[in-house]
Amino acid sequence: MNGPDFTARRFSMVDHQIRGRGIVSPGVLAAMGRVRRENFVIRRLREQAYDDGPLPIGQGQTISQPYIVALMVEALGLENGAKVLDVGTGSGYGAAVLACIAGEVFSIERLATLARRARRTLLAERFLNVHVRCGDGTLGWPEEAPFQGIVVAAGGPGVPETLKQQLAVGGHLVMPVGSEFNGQALFRMTRLSRSDFAQESLGGVRFVPLRGAAGWPSGGD
Ligand code: SAH
Repeated sequence: MNGPDFTARRFSMVDHQIRGRGIVSPGVLAAMGRVRRENFVIRRLREQAYDDGPLPIGQGQTISQPYIVALMVEALGLENGAKVLDVGTGSGYGAAVLACIAGEVFSIERLATLARRARRTLLAERFLNVHVRCGDGTLGWPEEAPFQGIVVAAGGPGVPETLKQQLAVGGHLVMPVGSEFNGQALFRMTRLSRSDFAQESLGGVRFVPLRGAAGWPSGGD
């Protein structure tokens, strides 16, 4: 399978799955049309790279559905050049979409194998403004805080207090909150002032569990 065919599939994905479902942000649409998702999925699933759903990436984890990535990034309402924290690097795909819009992306993955692979992919795809660290993302990245946007790509029992404190005033945090295995609500939190936060739900989603200090206790994965 060669490049041009994947390019056609990517543009069709943007039309049908992203624009067709109401994503309007020009920056988000351009980013979804630019990132070569086929290079972020595992080799044997390349043919399914533009399918309308999540795909396994190994270690019991998944690369999110393209629409969900677009929805989360649009909800961040990023200005060009913003500094963003991405928790749950996984394949690095979400970080790459963010990197098309943000100035710098700080991305944390708890599983070393995935962090290493994502770092390699992001470099090969020339996303030089993404920094990947292996560790517990529920603790954030204090040296780089505050962030204008924070996105968490795994579902937790609540928004970690540490992440709220690392959000810039006026910034948005997007994260699935709910049960460990039976689906979550996608929350958008806005920091109104030092001590005030507003919260709204963007709908039902199903993510892999967030593990760590402010996530679910470590289980089989
Ligand atoms: N954004 C990713 C989605 C990966 S799925 C992509 O585009 O491919 C969520 C990821 O979060 C998994 O790789 C999982 O290992 C990771 N994760 C779970 N809990 C975490 C934590 N506390 N800190 C960092 N990563 C975590």
